[in-house]
Amino acid sequence: MNVECVAVLGAGTMGSGIAQVFAQAGFAVLLTDVQQSFLDRGMKTIRDGLERLVKKEKLTADARDQVLGRIRTVPRIEDLAPVDFAVEAVYEDMKVKREVFGALDRTCRSEVLLATNTSSISITEIAATTRRPDRVIGMHFMNPVPVMKLVEVIRGHDTSDATYAVVRGLCERLGKTAVEVNDFPGFVSNRVLLPMINEAIFAVHEGVAKPEAIDEILKLGMNHPMGPLTLADFIGLDVCLAILEVLHRGLGEDKYRPCPLLRRMVAAGHLGRKSGRGFYTYPPA
Ligand code: NAD
Repeated sequence: MNVECVAVLGAGTMGSGIAQVFAQAGFAVLLTDVQQSFLDRGMKTIRDGLERLVKKEKLTADARDQVLGRIRTVPRIEDLAPVDFAVEAVYEDMKVKREVFGALDRTCRSEVLLATNTSSISITEIAATTRRPDRVIGMHFMNPVPVMKLVEVIRGHDTSDATYAVVRGLCERLGKTAVEVNDFPGFVSNRVLLPMINEAIFAVHEGVAKPEAIDEILKLGMNHPMGPLTLADFIGLDVCLAILEVLHRGLGEDKYRPCPLLRRMVAAGHLGRKSGRGFYTYPPA
């Protein structure tokens, strides 16, 4: 199937990055969100990201304008009817994903593949909300999308070989590396990463050490490029909590129980970088 026009749903942290990389690879992109202000914020993130590349002389000003010219913001899912492929990056919440996939299934032509960037929700369950479960797949980009090479590609129970092959090819066109995994809670990346982040939060909660000390230990002692609490702030503490809840529920083991401190910080609205405060504080974007 020839993919030229791609829908990206959700213009937040991930959706803006996904729209950017598709546009940089030459695809036309329709970007949608629930409010114009979110679309404006997403476009600003993309413009700022491209501007940094121009400053570093990795992109010409002309190329930047062409990339921006390939992205069009649209207010409603119904506006996505012309697309050949769709990637969803809305909130990590099954109820929201179900509504979005129901609407996408009604809007997009029957041959169009629908991908989800979910960090942990079952691809099989999302696919079952559509009339095309063989054409639904997980396409889990890493944050920040324009920088990170990996796409964890997750096959749901009914995902066809043909769907997988198209998505693998798309990853190559984006300059990314696809790694295939099966549909289990948290897949591979978050099943391994989130228990480490949760344990680091427990260490703060129990007074083992301060966040700076924990991050320094993992950076200097284990050669991690970024400490787990800096990374949690970067991912978003609400996103971390949602993933841990999926792991806890889905795998049924206490080792995935979200730390009470994480719950409290999310309840207080301290979501990390995006809210200006998490384990660290950040200047306004
Ligand atoms: P975010 O909160 O930054 O952005 C989500 C966006 O979706 C918001 O702008 C919101 O308004 C929009 N949205 C909500 N409902 C919508 C709807 N019905 N239609 C259109 N847009 C809607 O979240 P994020 O961090 O970008 O995460 C998005 C998805 O990507 C989640 O499934 C998350 O698990 C996954 N993910 C996140 C990361 C990360 O590091 N943040 C990494 C990989 C995957």
